[in-house]
Amino acid sequence: MQTKVLLNVEDMPRQWYNLAADLPSPLQPPLGPGGIPIKPEMLAPVFPMNIIEQEVSTQRWIDIPQEVLEVLWKWRPSPLQRACALEKALGTPAKIFFKNESVSPPGSHKPNTAVAQAWYNKQFGIKRITTETGAGQWGSALAFACSLLGLECKVFMVRISFDQKPFRKLMMETWGAKCVASPSTETNAGREILAKHPDTPGSLGIAISEAVEAAVTDGTGSTRYSLGSVLNHVMLHQTIIGLEAKKQLAKIGIVKPDVVIACAGGGSNFAGIAFPFVNDKINGAEIDIIPVEPTSCPTMTRGPFVYDHGDAAKMTPLLPMHSLGHDFIPPPIHAGGLRYHGIAPLVSQSIIEGLVTPRAIDQIECYEAAVLFARVEGIIPAPETSHAIAAVMQEAKKAKEEGKEKVILFNFSGHGLMDLTGYDRFFQGKLTNYALPASEMGNAIKELDGLPRPKVVRTGKW
Ligand SMILES: *Cc1c(COP(=O)(O)O)cnc(C)c1O
Repeated sequence: MQTKVLLNVEDMPRQWYNLAADLPSPLQPPLGPGGIPIKPEMLAPVFPMNIIEQEVSTQRWIDIPQEVLEVLWKWRPSPLQRACALEKALGTPAKIFFKNESVSPPGSHKPNTAVAQAWYNKQFGIKRITTETGAGQWGSALAFACSLLGLECKVFMVRISFDQKPFRKLMMETWGAKCVASPSTETNAGREILAKHPDTPGSLGIAISEAVEAAVTDGTGSTRYSLGSVLNHVMLHQTIIGLEAKKQLAKIGIVKPDVVIACAGGGSNFAGIAFPFVNDKINGAEIDIIPVEPTSCPTMTRGPFVYDHGDAAKMTPLLPMHSLGHDFIPPPIHAGGLRYHGIAPLVSQSIIEGLVTPRAIDQIECYEAAVLFARVEGIIPAPETSHAIAAVMQEAKKAKEEGKEKVILFNFSGHGLMDLTGYDRFFQGKLTNYALPASEMGNAIKELDGLPRPKVVRTGKW
């Protein structure tokens, strides 16, 4: 039985797919101060213009620059693997396939956009990129990309992760990036917080504020900021995953999957595997497409569709998205990459249309799924990825009950070799499930009362 489908380098997709071209109702614009739609030029101090153009583009196919392809070739096309041993363990008639994004040097899907973003910045004459990182996956992906393309990289890493995860920091430093704990003394935002709360563990919101400030205050004009998820251009760069998967499935005679699954924090690895199939669904294909989130941070399944800021410091424009409120601080579950209050606007609009159907799963079910996967398939999943695997198991069991030989495709977004403390706590029985109480959810959302509301536009076709 063929358990691995490889694609030749010559067959790798040469264009990214832009869902904004095909959504049945267009995205509503990001809003600036006073609720006025942002003009692209307003973002110019933060992002290079070529990336801003991609952010607002509605062109369906966008060429991948040759030099970006050449870097991606170091690990792409990623293999499409069949989880035969997992199928057997579950006794399911379903065929389970996954795109193995853990084979990239930093160990996740994130370098797909980090490489593209570094290249566009370089093309625009930028010398240095700043960013924030929570658990360290995005920081290490950007450090890797900047190193290969010859750019400086500065990462503000949330203090508590900086102290608890020294290996991610060492990866960044090995790739030549500078990594400081946030809040730091290097920015006004950081100094102000430290003056008030010298012992703060930091937060992603504070780190974003520091990274943006460090970019826009560089007097030489040669520094920009970079974001690893949520924005349209990030979703675009990740679609190479789903486009490759389509070609790989076709190679073994599978016309379409019945179910497509990925975990979703800001939404990028989900968008990456799913958007090419969302396009098929818009054109009539029957596919269940499922983004999976933790019950402790139920942005898509329980958050309202609102205009909200991307960060706690309200430095970013207002984005139309499902959100738990920019002040929402999720419980400290181990899937750090899924602890985000919002979700990509392109994913939100797909949810509203009924093109994708989100699901929330508890962390213990996720760890059980991850451990079974590791024991039969051999790869240790990232805690984020375990959410996708738990949903795959739910779908595989359903296929067994229905006696259907369904094709399930999921995104194996990354390995968990830097996140073994979560496994340790699971084995010691120290993990708890944490479904968010409705009372706690209300508070951060109330903050949004005075802000404009996006329209809920649904064609009713799905
Ligand atoms: C960052 C990360 C995620 C979550 O981010 P998305 O933008 O939603 O993809 C998921 N899995 C892994 C391995 C990650 O590093």
